[in-house]
Amino acid sequence: MWRTPAIPPKNKMIIVLKPGISRKLEATVLAEIRKRGYQPHVMRGVARTVIGAIGDELTHASLESLVQEFPQAVECVNPIQKRYKLVSREAHPTDSTVTVRNQVIGGKKLQVMAGPCSVESEQQLLATATAVQAAGATILRGGAFKPRTSPYEFQGLGEKGLKLLAKARRETGLAIITELLSEAHADLVAEYTDIIQIGARNSQNFQLLIAAAKTGKPVLLKRGLSMRIEEWLLAGEYVLANENPNLLFCERGIRTFETYTRNTLDLSTIPIIKKESHCPIVIDPSQGAGRSDLVASLCKGAVAMGADALLIEVHPNPAKALSDSSQQLSLEGFANLMRELRPLIAAAGREF
Ligand code: PEP
Ligand code: MN
Repeated sequence: MWRTPAIPPKNKMIIVLKPGISRKLEATVLAEIRKRGYQPHVMRGVARTVIGAIGDELTHASLESLVQEFPQAVECVNPIQKRYKLVSREAHPTDSTVTVRNQVIGGKKLQVMAGPCSVESEQQLLATATAVQAAGATILRGGAFKPRTSPYEFQGLGEKGLKLLAKARRETGLAIITELLSEAHADLVAEYTDIIQIGARNSQNFQLLIAAAKTGKPVLLKRGLSMRIEEWLLAGEYVLANENPNLLFCERGIRTFETYTRNTLDLSTIPIIKKESHCPIVIDPSQGAGRSDLVASLCKGAVAMGADALLIEVHPNPAKALSDSSQQLSLEGFANLMRELRPLIAAAGREF
C-alpha cells in the first residue's frame, strides 16, 4: 500500500531573467530568492540567464511576485512541476488501488456501486441491496445526509439512515458508501460507512476534505458542478496530503448550457485522470445525465474508456423516490444493465 510521504514535496520554479541585466541586479534577485526560503541555481545560456529555485511553498512566500518586484530584471516565473503532487502519476507511476471489505477498486475487476439516491426505509434499502448484489454490484450506495438544493425537500434520514446501511451490510456483506455533508458528522459517518462520499457541492470544502481524510476511511471525491480538472486534482491532494492514501475520483457531470441532460457527463476525464493521476476513477452516470434512459449508454462508454468503477442509482420504485426519481433505475432495469455490460467489460479487458 502506498503511503503519503512525511516530508511535503518541494516546489520547483524557473525564473527567467531579462537579457543584458547587470550582475549586480542579478545578485539582488538571487538574494531575494534566498530570503524567501528557496535555493537558487543559476543557469547561463547564450541569450538568457535562468534561475531554478527549489523551496517549500507551504511555509514560504511564492516567487511569482518577483515579476512585479523586479520588473527590470525578471521576465517571468513558471512552475516546473504541476501544482498537485501526491495525486500525480509522477509521484506514483503505477495505478493505486483502494480495498474495501475485500473488494479492490482500481484493479482488474470493474466494481459497481449501486443503490438508492437516498436511504428512505428499511424495506426500500434491503430490497435494493439484495437485488443489486444478485445482479453483480459489490458496494451499496445510499444517502443518509442529503445535500438538497431546497431546504423544503427530503433531507435524508441522518443517523437512522446510517443504521439502515449498516444493517444492509450485515445482511448482505456488501460494502457501503454514503455522503459526508458536514465536518460535525465526520466521526459519526465514519463509524458506519466503508467509503465516505464527498458530494459535488462540497468538493472544494477543504476543511470537510481534511476531516474526511482524517477519519482514515477511503474517500470518493465527486467533481464539482463547475470544477476544472486541475481544481479537482488539487482537492484530491488535500486527502493524500492528510495522510489518507485511499482516494477515488468520481466524475458526475458538470453544469453546461445543455438542457437535455441535468449535467454534462464528461467522460474525457477518464483518460485525463488516468494520465495525470494514479488514483482510480469512478463514473456516476445517474447524476451525470439525470435521466434513467441514458444510464446504460453512459455506462457502456465509461467501461470502454477505462473507468474503474460505476456509481449507479437504483430504486425499487423510482417514480416514488424521495429524491432524484427521474434518474434512478428500477431493480429490473439494473439487472438488465449488468447483463448488457458483461461482454463490454470483458472486451475492455476487465473482470466482473
Ligand atoms: C448523490 O450521489 O446522490 C449526490 C447528491 O451526488 P452529487 O454530489 O454528485 O450531486
Ligand atoms: Mn442522487
